[in-house]
Amino acid sequence: MLTSSFPRKKYLHHQTPIEKMVRLTKHLAGPEIYIKRDDMTGGLTEGGNKVRKLEFIVADALKMKADTLITAGAVQSNHCRATLAAAITEGLKCRLLLEERVPGSYNPAATGNNLLYNLLGAENTRIVPGGTDLMKEMELEKAALAATDKAGYIIPVGASNALGSLGYVSCAEEILEQSTAQEIEFDYLICPSGSGGTHSGLVAGFFISGAGPKVFGINVSRKEEAQKELIKTLVEKILDLLQHKKPFVDQTINCFDAYVGPGYSLPTDQMKEAVKLVASIEGILLDPVYSGKAMAGLIDLIRQNYFRPDEKILFLHTGGVPALYAYAGIFQ
Ligand SMILES: *Cc1c(COP(=O)(O)O)cnc(C)c1O
Repeated sequence: MLTSSFPRKKYLHHQTPIEKMVRLTKHLAGPEIYIKRDDMTGGLTEGGNKVRKLEFIVADALKMKADTLITAGAVQSNHCRATLAAAITEGLKCRLLLEERVPGSYNPAATGNNLLYNLLGAENTRIVPGGTDLMKEMELEKAALAATDKAGYIIPVGASNALGSLGYVSCAEEILEQSTAQEIEFDYLICPSGSGGTHSGLVAGFFISGAGPKVFGINVSRKEEAQKELIKTLVEKILDLLQHKKPFVDQTINCFDAYVGPGYSLPTDQMKEAVKLVASIEGILLDPVYSGKAMAGLIDLIRQNYFRPDEKILFLHTGGVPALYAYAGIFQ
């Protein structure tokens, strides 16, 4: 395994399944669609992609003898919820900074991830306005802890540094193993692309392995060029961390920004259609912020005949279903 020399906590106890979306494939009459169920990573409350990243990051925090995890995210952040759960599991404290990216979007009585922060007993959570320099704020938290002899450990937004992204280098290897075992060669992998650790880890993992599908990131916030730049920089950092010598050719980075809509976390009609369609014909729940927009992108690309009918697509379900409940109003 590419990542075996790094300390790792075990929050995932098995491979997540790859299933064929038989009814969606038939409905869209395009390429064959499969789904990688990373909504079923288990552990750390409700699973999702942050579980794979936190396996490496929390192991590092423990190695550094940290006693408090410090992280940040949007007001319905799956990452903050998973980090809080990891802190509880390891007997650590946790400080969260919740960024109100959409003005007025923080509601202390909200359901979804907000309810889970409360149940998990979040203390020391701070709400900060959109556009705040989150890294700087986290450094201040760490300094304040140090002044009382506490050792804070900063986890960047989305756990998307090179170390966290190893979770998806490892997932790329898992997908290659499953492809061999299930005798399916995927042509494309479609995933949401946000803070970028998921997208970059997969690209790096397939690149080093010299195998695997083309990765298509469906942006959830940034424009195409900005996201490509972010992914490229992160892939290079991951290759560096893994001491991989072969230079990276960045033509392999694909980002689609047509499905963001009015902005991060804001609903689009295509997202609503995708969430309803996949729930009603596949019995699978997507989330409104990430997997719903990524699926909207896949559906649209299929309708535009972007793929040939004999091609095989793997859709990565990154989780996030708790946020669905906070958006109940738009689906009624
Ligand atoms: C954080 C998150 C993403 C985005 O992953 P990045 O690695 O930040 O790009 C996608 N889906 C869900 C459900 C998430 O919580």
